[in-house]
Amino acid sequence: MTLIKPTRRDILKLAAMAPVMAFPLAARAQVGPPTDGNPAHFNFTIGEARLTIISDGYFTTPVSGIGVNADPAEVQAFMASHYQPTDIGYAHTNHLYIEIGDAKVLVDVGSGSRFFETTGRLMGNLETAGIDPQAVTHVVMTHAHPDHILGIRDDFDEAIIPDAEYIIGAAEHDYWMQDDLVNQVEPEDQQFVLAAVNSINADGVEWTLAQDGHEVVPGVSLVHTPGHTLGHMSVRLDSGGKSLIALGDCLTNAHANFARPDWLTGRDHDKEMAAATRARILDMAAADRIAVLGYHFPFPGVGHVKRNGDAFQFVPALWQF
Ligand SMILES: [Zn+2]
Repeated sequence: MTLIKPTRRDILKLAAMAPVMAFPLAARAQVGPPTDGNPAHFNFTIGEARLTIISDGYFTTPVSGIGVNADPAEVQAFMASHYQPTDIGYAHTNHLYIEIGDAKVLVDVGSGSRFFETTGRLMGNLETAGIDPQAVTHVVMTHAHPDHILGIRDDFDEAIIPDAEYIIGAAEHDYWMQDDLVNQVEPEDQQFVLAAVNSINADGVEWTLAQDGHEVVPGVSLVHTPGHTLGHMSVRLDSGGKSLIALGDCLTNAHANFARPDWLTGRDHDKEMAAATRARILDMAAADRIAVLGYHFPFPGVGHVKRNGDAFQFVPALWQF
């Protein structure tokens, strides 16, 4: 069995991953930039559960990854008509923190200090929101891509939240931990493998390997949503007759993924499977009036799904003061 023993130099090489996911141009927004900072947290309730969305920051990502099976001119016209940039998009990073009963559940740990300069803000933003990261009892990983898992280690290579139970899909864990996977993937994907293996092997982290339907704590369960990665898990909260699903990267764009469920996404591991999963989840959320949270949707990324014939529309939740 070939074990990857990552060195500090390997970890530093992750900086080379940035060009795969982003371009150094600023994304154009519909409105001008803020003159002062904005809050990076948003809280609300679902039944008895108190939820907070906390940002890890943002990064940019090429629009060419949207609708890879469509005419690029049609995709560009779609984006322009939705007041979206047609070249470089703006990806938010919306983490869900759930307080239910005695449990405090954090979904994904963000990028940490080894990815983009514009990410890695989760721990600071938790504290600004009045949340002690060390009080987290459960950390759920939707999947092992770097923007979701690389923050698992602190600057001293220790687990960022040492006393929590860490939970990941069994299929997700097993995919990344295959023997010698790094030498079987395309060169541009090797840094993703290295980031996943390094993070899964973080000192002080013992993994609970979950199947579809896994109960994290009463009221919080996992839904297998494969395609973006094969073992991708979304997180479902049910309390007091209300429900919310944290989609992870099951959907990544709050416009195209809803209006054009037939469009495939370049970054999805199995593009057809991902589209089928999106259609299933959108149909369920619309029919059952389940709130959704998109990790990369415009902050805070919470809303509902409205059906429009064969397509859908994202309806953002009201910001409540
Ligand atoms: Zn992501």
